[in-house]
Amino acid sequence: MDWDPTPEQLMVRDMARDFARREVFPVAAALDREARFPSELVRRLAELGLMGVNVRDEFGGAQAGSVAYVLALLEIAAGCAATSVTMGVTNMVAEVIQQFGTDAQRRKYIPAITGGRFACASFALSEAGAGSDAGSMKTSARRDGDHWVVNGEKAWITSGPRAGVFVLWARTGGEGTAGISTFLVEPGTPGFSIGRHEDKLGLRASETVSLIFEDCRIPADALLGELNRGFRIAMMALDGGRLGIAAQSLGISRSAIEEATAYAKERKQFGRPIAEFQAIQWMLADCATEWEAAHLLLLRAAWLKEQGLPFSKEASMAKVFCSEKANAICARCFQIHGGYGYVKEYPIERHLRDVRVTTIYEGTSEVQRLVISRQLLK
Ligand SMILES: Cc1cc2nc3c(=O)[nH]c(=O)nc-3n(C[C@H](O)[C@H](O)[C@H](O)COP(=O)(O)OP(=O)(O)OC[C@H]3O[C@@H](n4cnc5c(N)ncnc54)[C@H](O)[C@@H]3O)c2cc1C
Repeated sequence: MDWDPTPEQLMVRDMARDFARREVFPVAAALDREARFPSELVRRLAELGLMGVNVRDEFGGAQAGSVAYVLALLEIAAGCAATSVTMGVTNMVAEVIQQFGTDAQRRKYIPAITGGRFACASFALSEAGAGSDAGSMKTSARRDGDHWVVNGEKAWITSGPRAGVFVLWARTGGEGTAGISTFLVEPGTPGFSIGRHEDKLGLRASETVSLIFEDCRIPADALLGELNRGFRIAMMALDGGRLGIAAQSLGISRSAIEEATAYAKERKQFGRPIAEFQAIQWMLADCATEWEAAHLLLLRAAWLKEQGLPFSKEASMAKVFCSEKANAICARCFQIHGGYGYVKEYPIERHLRDVRVTTIYEGTSEVQRLVISRQLLK
């Protein structure tokens, strides 16, 4: 079995790595400290073809596939996790529109996303009362002539104040997952406004907001996919999105390993570098071993997606394993830094805050285990 990336995948990865090392990592601490959205980096991501890595070239995408996408996202996350979440959600939205949109919807929105005319795009599924149980959402869309009238509030929406288009889920039928449809909504639509900004532990340069809909009228052709079949679209999009979060967690934790290794060689106690103590060596060995195992799981899931094979269970496995191992790795790398890890002098403090959310969003670890066990038991 050959898991080596192809020359094209390597080219995308190396381009992302080069960009992350030269332009992203050097500003990540300041973006975090100032909680400043990385407008310039996001513009560069589009310029480099990284806002539609797995999108067809007829829509301005790089058409490089799912493996290249996770390799590239991992590199951007190694530079700045907050920038990578914008990249991840934007790619996910471009792919959803490509897969479920009409030709007119694809031509209207995807080139604007991939080409950078829109800074980014947003995915609006969660509500304050409907997180893991997204199917219990209350936001509604009622048909009125040649419009839909949307009412309700979405919560936790990444990049909400910057997005050029929102994929929105709303209830169009009865209770449960069978009464939900998907829509494309543009900012500036009367009745649609940005609500509360979350003050987060990590990913501080990414904006997370609520969206408010008050008798918001959107045209009938804003429906994406079939009426009342929207929940399926959300679940399919999240399968792909989970590969992105797994890659993000591995990018953050790879930086943590590199920094802890360098620190262990440089920091001296008891007259020698702490890297000479077996306790430190074993922590680094465990970090590197777990990281490699997680990376293989992610590559396999991305490869299945790229082949057009079922990959939902494998995406959940990659998401839960990569994100949980990445949290454990960052905690060990933090320990290696001693007290210096606890202050902002070294990036490990930021990595530990940024990696924490990877076991929560796009489905918690518990939800991933539900997805995996349901498939095993069916
Ligand atoms: C920084 C950030 C960015 C986000 N961005 C977006 C975005 O762009 N778009 C979007 O739509 N959403 C977004 N989210 C929302 C995110 O997807 C939800 O937070 C997540 O799905 C969990 O929902 P919840 O927070 O309501 O937790 P809850 O669902 O209330 O879960 C609380 C706890 O209960 C557990 N639990 C719940 N149900 C079960 C069960 N059946 N079995 C076992 N355990 C269970 C959970 O695992 C968790 O431990 C974002 C969240 C954050 C923090």
